[in-house]
Amino acid sequence: MERKRIVALRRLKEPQLQRLREQFDVDYFEEPEQHAEAVAAALRQAHGLIGGKLVVTPAILDEAPLLEAVATISVGYDNLPVAELTRRGILLTNTPDVLTETTADTGFMLIMASARRLVELANMVREGRWTQHVGEPHFGSNVHSKTLGLVGLGRIGRAIARRALGFNMRVLYSNASPKPELEAEWGLERRSFEQLLAESDFVCLTVPLTEETEHLVGYEQCRAMKRSAFLVNIARGKVVDEAGLIRALEDGLIAGAGLDVFEQEPVSPDSPLLRMDNVVTLPHIGSATHETREAMASCAVENIRQALQGERPRDLVNPQARPNGFPQPEQEPPVDAQ
Ligand code: NAP
Repeated sequence: MERKRIVALRRLKEPQLQRLREQFDVDYFEEPEQHAEAVAAALRQAHGLIGGKLVVTPAILDEAPLLEAVATISVGYDNLPVAELTRRGILLTNTPDVLTETTADTGFMLIMASARRLVELANMVREGRWTQHVGEPHFGSNVHSKTLGLVGLGRIGRAIARRALGFNMRVLYSNASPKPELEAEWGLERRSFEQLLAESDFVCLTVPLTEETEHLVGYEQCRAMKRSAFLVNIARGKVVDEAGLIRALEDGLIAGAGLDVFEQEPVSPDSPLLRMDNVVTLPHIGSATHETREAMASCAVENIRQALQGERPRDLVNPQARPNGFPQPEQEPPVDAQ
């Protein structure tokens, strides 16, 4: 049988490429932007597409008539046209779970860093401005024993909640569905979004970017928060109305923010956020550790391998793309039937 072809873009290392090459012909592009024509030519013959920060449009799909599966090396897939892929019967997979703990570390790091003014004060030392004992103007806020409000209590939200409980924090959450088991076992408290904003010392966003969550937090929501509270965003930039957040920070409506994600990435060097001492900014590194990025790539490889072999991939986003389902794997007959 003819081998299927895969176009692989970014974030794959030799061991994962090798794993793909055992079964498929692979065209790999580490920097696809610089090889746009070659990528387009490869896609014309590709059955699978795998990579990080994928750009897929209907026009691109029109030029990829054999495509059966797309495997994004990320848990979020707001950058991909899910309905269009589904309509064309193209499977989409993501990489949940393997990045949960690392992204939760990033979220908690931003809570700590913004409360204790880590970047501002570390820069003071580094730049030789530590000339006398640090006094009240440079004091931070406690994290332990404060109230954390998680907007979104999925995998990453829960992992942040576990960290917060270790810091003796009270944990509130607002989520699409209630989580009574976590209320009973961990003592988490469900609130309406508005109530969560009003009660929390730290509001942490861990929802996916959807039509419903776009610009969920802006100027008015900051106004509803305590003046001593911090906003942490490790979800997606567009969950926050950045212009509204900037105005809210300028007006002192909240104490500060910790941001891993931005409406435009990379963020413009002219963004006022970069000049605010009370804002900690990171370059979208939620899952960016050696171990986790490798695990994500391996997970995506396994997903596309399963998809192109006709199996149901483990992390399938759009099962509707196969309305007739997947063939059941052949069962070993029971021993006594042999
Ligand atoms: P998840 O397990 O799917 O959790 C998302 C949670 O959000 C679910 O509990 C869901 O509710 C809830 N939710 C969805 N829409 C909502 C709404 N309108 N209002 C309130 N709650 C809502 O996803 P995850 O693995 O935790 O990842 C969450 C997001 O983090 C990803 O989509 C991605 O965008 C982002 N992320 C960012 C980075 C980074 O590098 N900064 C890394 C990884 C992930 P239900 O429980 O009712 O479904």
